[in-house]
Amino acid sequence: MTTAQQAENKGQQTRTVAELVEDIKALTTEIQELYCLDEIPWVVGYSGGKDSTATLQLIWNAIAALPIEKRKKTIYVITTDTLVENPVVSVWVRKSLERMRVTAKEQKMPIEPHLLQPEIKETFWVSLIGKGYPTPRGKFRWCTDRLKIHPSNRFIRDVVRVNGEVILVLGTRKAESIKRAISMEKHQAGSLKDRLASDSSSPTSLLYHSASLPNSLIYSPIEDWRTDEVWIYLNQWQNPWEYSNKDLFTMYRGATADNECPLVVDTSTASCGDSRFGCWVCTIVSKDKSMEAMIQNDEEKEWMQPLLDIRNELDNRDDRDKRDFRRIWGEVQLFERHVDGEVSIEPIHGPYTKYWREHWLRRLLEAQTKTRRTAPENMRDITLISLEEMSEIRRIWLEDKHEFDDSLPRIYQDVTGEEFQDPRPGADYSLLGRDEWIVLEEICEGDAMHLELMAKLLDTERQYRKKTRRVGIYDTLEKCFNTSSRSPEDAIKNARLKRELSEAVSQGDVAKVKQMTLGDVAAINEVDESKSDEPVTWASMKFKNENLEE
Ligand code: SF4
Repeated sequence: MTTAQQAENKGQQTRTVAELVEDIKALTTEIQELYCLDEIPWVVGYSGGKDSTATLQLIWNAIAALPIEKRKKTIYVITTDTLVENPVVSVWVRKSLERMRVTAKEQKMPIEPHLLQPEIKETFWVSLIGKGYPTPRGKFRWCTDRLKIHPSNRFIRDVVRVNGEVILVLGTRKAESIKRAISMEKHQAGSLKDRLASDSSSPTSLLYHSASLPNSLIYSPIEDWRTDEVWIYLNQWQNPWEYSNKDLFTMYRGATADNECPLVVDTSTASCGDSRFGCWVCTIVSKDKSMEAMIQNDEEKEWMQPLLDIRNELDNRDDRDKRDFRRIWGEVQLFERHVDGEVSIEPIHGPYTKYWREHWLRRLLEAQTKTRRTAPENMRDITLISLEEMSEIRRIWLEDKHEFDDSLPRIYQDVTGEEFQDPRPGADYSLLGRDEWIVLEEICEGDAMHLELMAKLLDTERQYRKKTRRVGIYDTLEKCFNTSSRSPEDAIKNARLKRELSEAVSQGDVAKVKQMTLGDVAAINEVDESKSDEPVTWASMKFKNENLEE
């Protein structure tokens, strides 16, 4: 037993095995009564981990003991595959769902397994490599919503839309989260009969309302179980869909942490990365203990080392040198940085730069190519990033970031030796391409901001060429100037000036406002005077210094 388990068990009353057996009998009756009570469909969250396996096993066994004519209500078993799951666990869970499907049919069980995935535009790699989101971290944990909550909530909402209500059956246990423990304790008064009969909104109900999903009630049958009781149940009672609980135990053995990533329906879940069933890329936890332990404890898992290397490379807490000095839509945003009693006003860094997005893609494809050679036979078709994800990344780079040098197919061919077959219709046709990009680079002579501005302007014009109406083109071009016509130093200086001005306005400091705004007028007048016949334009302001030097 791990130290964590000992601590957990210490905090709970110990039960004998005979008492556990009694509890299982009571739970079986409770599940059967609850199931037969109404027509509300059940959705069981299954991650393949010990708690959700034990929960589903309890449900399955209880329903299997009912006569066939009573097994009317559908029980959906849902698993979210983030597409960045630990590959060993991912294969394990997929096979388990497949077995479930087959066995449910054979046993005439009303069980329907579903493997849910994030939408392509929200996957981990499309967000990180495509849009340039920095790796998830405490203050910017963008992944859980996109990878786990959205897919499961979409499914649950669809069920609610058709049936009006749903009961979510979760493998959550008190030991997993103090926050949950408190909320569960509130709902545990009264006898089973009272709890079944009482209104679901009552604090004594067996079910409690989901805080985030309307018309969804939550039922957690093993909420009182200790970790060792879960293992006793899994090891002593046979898995009803004929999968191996012994293999599950082996997967857990030898690793340090044994939390489970439950079905995530809201953001109250603590870091789900600290788990054997979290994502292999997770940087919310300081180390991927599960994958590291798998590799250390099992020579056969050494092929996963390239994945661990990428994860560790991504886990860089100070990656500002790899990121844009502007936010994702191009504006400079400032914040007060406090270090050792010193306060400075710094820009909030935005997405990864072009260079680093391309770097991560290359690294990922290299790892995929390598693992496809070295992984065991049953894992040889491992996909770290899919063709659809790469197609979406290419689209974002071309359309949203205006990087018309179209580097993705080249990187793909460089690393894999194969031609990139884009599934997006018309993806390979473009007016601007690598040749035009090279010419532009030469013209801009190493001025990255100038290159960015010219590329944006040219590509904006190209995008509008395809439209039947060109309404909005001037605003879009104006935005290009707003975001890309200044050097990083000037853009940050300008943002600081704006911030100072807005502070002066809010403090009613008229003298400072006058001085700051009249200063600008004077600068414009200087340009006006030197070229008095010409109107003030972005170009005249940007190049005013050069003009004055001439
Ligand atoms: S396991 Fe980590 S990366 Fe995956 S969704 Fe959870 S917090 Fe995000």
